[in-house]
Amino acid sequence: MATSMGGAGGHVIIVVGAGPAGMALANILSKAGHDVVILNRDIKFGGLAEYGIFPSKLKLRGGLRKTYWEILARPNVHYFGNVCVGRGKDLTVDELRSVGASALVFATGAQGTKTIGVEGDSAIGVYHAKDVVYHFNQLPSFSERRFEMGRRVAIIGVGDVMVDISHWLVRYKKVERVTAIARRGPAERKYNPKEIRAVCANVDQEALTQEFSRIGPRLEAAGQKPDEILKGMVDEFTKCDPANSQTKVGFRFLASPRRVLTDANNRVRGLEIEENRLEPKGQDFAAVGLKQYYEFPCDSVVFAVGDRVDETVGLPYKNGAFVTCPAPTENDPDDSLFQAYDEATGKVIEGVFLTGWARKASEGLVGIAKRDGEWCAEVVTRFLERQAPRDRNTIEGALRPLRALLNARQVQVVDVESLRLLEGVEKQQRTPPDSIGEFKFSTNEEMLTQIQRRGAGSTAHAAS
Ligand SMILES: Cc1cc2nc3c(=O)[nH]c(=O)nc-3n(C[C@H](O)[C@H](O)[C@H](O)COP(=O)(O)OP(=O)(O)OC[C@H]3O[C@@H](n4cnc5c(N)ncnc54)[C@H](O)[C@@H]3O)c2cc1C
Repeated sequence: MATSMGGAGGHVIIVVGAGPAGMALANILSKAGHDVVILNRDIKFGGLAEYGIFPSKLKLRGGLRKTYWEILARPNVHYFGNVCVGRGKDLTVDELRSVGASALVFATGAQGTKTIGVEGDSAIGVYHAKDVVYHFNQLPSFSERRFEMGRRVAIIGVGDVMVDISHWLVRYKKVERVTAIARRGPAERKYNPKEIRAVCANVDQEALTQEFSRIGPRLEAAGQKPDEILKGMVDEFTKCDPANSQTKVGFRFLASPRRVLTDANNRVRGLEIEENRLEPKGQDFAAVGLKQYYEFPCDSVVFAVGDRVDETVGLPYKNGAFVTCPAPTENDPDDSLFQAYDEATGKVIEGVFLTGWARKASEGLVGIAKRDGEWCAEVVTRFLERQAPRDRNTIEGALRPLRALLNARQVQVVDVESLRLLEGVEKQQRTPPDSIGEFKFSTNEEMLTQIQRRGAGSTAHAAS
């Protein structure tokens, strides 16, 4: 692959989404000499690196931000922040396809949250993990939503997202009790042992031992060794961050929520839980309901059971995911994995690709999303090599209709110069004592006002 800088002679590629996957793809394709136009829903770039990774992880976030600034500073990378693609949004997929770019890549992440579809899940006090995470990371408009957590919070799920939300509840909300509820057993817990350090000082170890006594016979019946599992779990509670609250963190295993129980005002008062047993399934274990139920009291419920893509983007969608080509095409076998596919016609959508969590929701950490973006860049490069030279558009030829569309809709596009100004202003602000991480403006209005006050362009004309 060529590595020369500068857009001369290359193709124009539009990337929708400036998270780790989109930025990794933009990095490779811009280095190869193509012009890359990045459209991003949020004013700021970074996606979950900016609005998902726990805000106190300053080193990780700062490192990623630095890398992204370097990519965006290239003359052949054109950033359009505050532009949302989708049905009824600023631009539709068909409009984007009409501007004459050689390829269109969706790196829009997985903006929706999976639900388990139980009665009462729209009650006051039921939340989706992503919304809560966006809230404490101050993503507009989630930053302004009220999250009434109450004293006792049940989080459905035992992955890293559960840990991050517990971290916020323990350290900043200082609630009374947080309970992670798991369908399967403690051996099937999904969180990273390093992540649990953020809250392990608050784990109620006495209650954990009692929980193991309660479920021990069922673990043994499945061939597991409860004592060893408990020891393994407790051994991970080392190097815990010092506790700063009395919050107790607990676990409920072999527990499937069947109903959210509500009071007369439709507020959460608890969960109806079905007891499960474990059944060996290959190398793994499946949960099997025992039809025995009990009430678990809590004031709020957070579903942290994974993500799904946003179907309003307007790409073919099925079961929480965008549809990719089901079988290898005559090209490289990898290509099909990244190509958008229309089941109605039975054909790939020529020149439209997917990467990162938009391709595989909830798939791993930033490093995995980055690798996916790089892998997709290889697929796009092979596609571009198959295009006839006469099919190429110039960057001006693609930007002109794009700007015309955005101007007509009066979209306030934010370019990189404006973002630099915004960053400068944010750095000068004092962080309020109760906030996590660095100071951030938490509404689009505040950000746009700051940009305009300092005279930077935040219109479609300004993005170049
Ligand atoms: C709570 C949480 C904590 C995490 N913590 C860590 C951690 O500590 N360490 C780690 O390595 N990984 C962590 N991860 C994982 C990591 O954040 C993801 O692997 C990665 O961000 C996925 O990258 P992506 O580019 O596919 O999607 P995203 O990061 O979601 O980026 C998607 C981008 O698309 C844009 N977009 C969305 N819809 C549209 C649209 N319709 N039009 C235009 N633009 C759109 C968004 O504005 C966003 O910029 C965490 C994830 C979560 C959920």
